[in-house]
Formats: sequence, C-alpha cells, structure tokens
Amino acid sequence: MAAKLLEGAPIAEQIKEKLRAELSELKSQGVVPSLAAVMVGSNPGAVFYAKMQEKACSEIGIEYELKTLEESTGQAELEEVIAGLNADEKVNGIILQMPVPKQIDGRVMQAKIDPRKDVDGVNPANLGSIVLGNPRLAPCTAMSVMMMVKASGIDVYGKEAVVIGSSEIVGKPAALLLMDKWATMDETGNTDKLAGATVTVCHIGTSEKGDLSSHTRRADLLVTAVGVKPGLISADMLKPGAVVIDVATIRKKDPETGKSRTLGDVEPEGAKEIASAITPVPGGVGTVTTALLLKNTVEATKWQLGK
Ligand code: NAP
Repeated sequence: MAAKLLEGAPIAEQIKEKLRAELSELKSQGVVPSLAAVMVGSNPGAVFYAKMQEKACSEIGIEYELKTLEESTGQAELEEVIAGLNADEKVNGIILQMPVPKQIDGRVMQAKIDPRKDVDGVNPANLGSIVLGNPRLAPCTAMSVMMMVKASGIDVYGKEAVVIGSSEIVGKPAALLLMDKWATMDETGNTDKLAGATVTVCHIGTSEKGDLSSHTRRADLLVTAVGVKPGLISADMLKPGAVVIDVATIRKKDPETGKSRTLGDVEPEGAKEIASAITPVPGGVGTVTTALLLKNTVEATKWQLGK
C-alpha cells in the first residue's frame, strides 16, 4: 500500500491562518512585529534562506530587514551588530544566517542573541528550556518535525522513535521533543501533551562503527536529518508501516537535464511502498519550518510585550 504523503503546505497554511488573526490583533494595538536577519558574506545557502524569509514575512505582514556584513567581518564587529539589534525596541526577532565564515564561531554568536528575540531557538537559554520541558522559542525545524508527527496520526507514546542526525538545531531538539510527554504540536503549532516516545539518536559513529540499519528497522517513527547523500536510507532499512520524516535538503544537479533538484536522505520511491506515511522533499518539513519562523517571530513579540 502506498504511504500517505505528509505535505507541508496545508499545515503551513493553518499556522499562517492563525498568525494572520494574531497579527491583526497586534496591529490594532499599534504593533507590527519585525524580524532582523544578519548575514555575514554571501554564502549561496544563506542568501537563498534570506530571500525565502523576506518573501514569507512580506506575505503575512511581518517587517523584515536583512543586514549584510562583509565576508571578512570579525567576531567583535558581529557581536556589536547583534548587541545593537538586542537593544533596538523596534526589532522583535533576530536570526543569524548560517553558515558563517570560518573566522566566526556561529554558536557563540547565536548565544549573544537576546533569548526573547531568538526566533531560531538556538540560544542556550531556549535550548535549555526544551530539556526542562517548557520551551517558548524552540528551533523551527524540530517543531516542524513534531507537527509532521501529529499530521501522520501516529501515537508515539511508548513507541520506538529513531532520529538520525544529532545537530543542535535539528536532531537533538527533535529527540528531546519526541521524548517529552507534553511536546506534540496541534495543527496551529501549539503544544498538547502527547509525545513520550522511546528515542534512539544515531549519528556518524552509528554508521561508521555501529549498524545504522539495525536501528532504523525497529523504528515506528524515523526522523532523518543527515543531508550528506541522497538515498542514504533505502527502503530495506525501514520497518513496514513506519512513519518517515525526512528533514534533509540536498541540492544535486540532474546529469540529464543539468538542473538542480532538492533531495532528501530517504530513497523515496521504495520507501513509499513500505512506510505508512512519509514527508516529501521538497514540500514537506521545510515548508512548515518557514511558517514556524513566522510563528516564532510573533511569539517573540508577544513575549517582549509581556503576553
Ligand atoms: P549537520 O549539523 O551537518 O548535522 C548532520 C548530522 O548527521 C550530524 O549529527 C552527523 O553526525 C550526522 N551524520 C552525518 N553523516 C551520517 C551518517 N552517514 N550516518 C548517520 N549520521 C550521520 O546538519 P543539520 O543542520 O542538522 O541539517 C541536516 C539536514 O537537514 C541538512 O540536509 C539540512 O539542509 C537539512 N535541514 C532542513 C531544514 C528544513 O527545514 N527542511 C532545516 C534545517 C536543516 P555527527 O554529529 O556525529 O557528525
């Protein structure tokens, strides 16, 4: 039986519908949320994300400003820019576009963002609150994973969830949210109390010295966020009936057409025959992630207003 396709667009639209109402309420109080993005240099990935953010903000009525700094910008200068945005009352959300040039420690700089303006949810204070089970601004991609879990209809409580990838922005927070008993999101991105999976986290060591497929084959829910090689997860690595959430976005040139395409970690055609539900790449997790960045900007604004 072919798997249910977990499209991101309808979920993103529900999030935006709720945001429109919240934005109109804020506007009636004279508040228009604003998001400031800081980009150092011109990494093509960072430029692409900045364009997407600008478009998404303008569609919904959030102000967006991109500050582009020279490729050679040092840490002290970047820190000053972030401090300026932290102090600027007109700025409600701050995002540091990644990747940054090598002279900059991105994680150290993200920690300089005021936690109440940290719409990427990467400041240690916000990441720490996931551990404690009460995040207000969590990383958008990890939240997007939770919304996909909800959309799949799987009740993960006590089930085997396997997360591949252990980055601070995706794998680790997603694993913590899946483990937590409060964390599943409803259709508008609000939390209810439903997760509580038994979570295994795999990483490069699992592939190099362990046996990745022995973990993936027991997964009722598989979340994969590696992004190294399309098709890393083949159909024979899946448990029949599993829910598969593919976070990865890998750009590859099609040798026949010469055009670039976006692919995920999972080999989609085979997986569709084995899984019960699967996210498409593109058009799955990423679409919801963008909507959740808007939600976090509104949430940050409300937090700053004491709401
Ligand atoms: P990252 O920081 O590079 O992390 C990748 C993770 O994969 C690491 O934990 C790494 O292990 C692990 N890994 C690498 N090779 C592996 C292998 N062969 N077997 C098992 N694990 C392996 O990347 P990220 O920022 O988390 O992003 C991951 C992917 O998601 C990328 O494709 C990115 O573009 C995509 N992404 C998508 C969205 C979205 O909204 N759709 C948002 C963010 C990221 P070690 O830690 O041991 O090195």
